Amino acid sequence: MGNVRIAVVGGGIAGATAAYHLSEVHPDAEVLLLEAERVLAHHTTGRSAAIFVENLATPPNRIMLRAGRDFLWDPPEGLADHPILTHRTVMHVATEAQVGALEETYAAGQAVTTPSEWLTPEEAAVHFPPIRSELLAAAVLEPECADIDVGGLHQAYIRGMRRNGGTIATSRRVDAARPDGDGWRLDTTDGEVGADVLVNAAGSWGDLVAASAGVEPVGLQPNRRTAFMVNGPGVDATGWAFTIDAESRWYTKDDGPQMLCSLVEETPFEPCDVKPDEADVALAIERINEATT
Ligand SMILES: Cc1cc2nc3c(=O)[nH]c(=O)nc-3n(C[C@H](O)[C@H](O)[C@H](O)COP(=O)(O)OP(=O)(O)OC[C@H]3O[C@@H](n4cnc5c(N)ncnc54)[C@H](O)[C@@H]3O)c2cc1C
Repeated sequence: MGNVRIAVVGGGIAGATAAYHLSEVHPDAEVLLLEAERVLAHHTTGRSAAIFVENLATPPNRIMLRAGRDFLWDPPEGLADHPILTHRTVMHVATEAQVGALEETYAAGQAVTTPSEWLTPEEAAVHFPPIRSELLAAAVLEPECADIDVGGLHQAYIRGMRRNGGTIATSRRVDAARPDGDGWRLDTTDGEVGADVLVNAAGSWGDLVAASAGVEPVGLQPNRRTAFMVNGPGVDATGWAFTIDAESRWYTKDDGPQMLCSLVEETPFEPCDVKPDEADVALAIERINEATT
């Protein structure tokens, strides 16, 4: 692909991943990463809970998660000099009324690399001591999950694509793209850019970028999810599970001296620099306070 220019729109984890791998596979091509914000990874990528769980979302998601697992534990030499994952357990906790939902999670968790385990309330308290075990009917432990070093992975891809000759333009929003011969002409906030190949990695804005290029949107629905940090209990939390309500009404995990908390909601939203709604933060705190000491 000599003299070919590949333009990747969006500098989150998807765009950084695409830009790096394209620069590896096509060393003669010129890879250009275009990001609307002043800094990369400002939106969803910079706000993730950074948990790697194989037993997550839909069956196709699980296939991709399993396929990426070895790469993240043992990244190729030259990309990152340390594993991107650090071991952590994930535990789903259920009251009597939530046992049906827990059974579904348990059943789905039998198909992953290390099958899920069914726990008593007393066993659950070993994995997450603040849980009010007297309110629980049971729990399910996913033993082989991990924390993702999202910043480390993103930086590794960015360093790698730069090393391969790729370039990055921040504060460079793509406003429209139109076919130009066999390629594309992009209107950006800093003038026109030509590209032979256009990669849409614009996250929540993906359908807007597609529409601006005359490509039929696939029907992406951006959702807002609230996450926030609170002071931790002031004890050593090493080995505590990422703990999530069986019906995904809240989750929490230790992060140094603090706890990351979420309401795990999915509120349909227009793509924007999203901010938390105070009522959602309050509801998450109420639910977590009810479930923990
Ligand atoms: C609260 C929360 C917790 C999460 N927890 C987890 C978790 O534990 N584990 C997990 O695997 N995933 C988690 N996720 C999901 C994960 O963070 C996302 O799937 C991932 O970050 C999406 O990356 P992206 O690159 O597609 O999008 P983004 O990071 O949003 O990147 C898209 C980029 O495109 C840019 N852009 C948009 N339009 C244009 C344009 N016209 N021109 C140029 N640039 C443009 C944007 O500025 C943005 O930087 C979580 C998400 C949230 C919100």
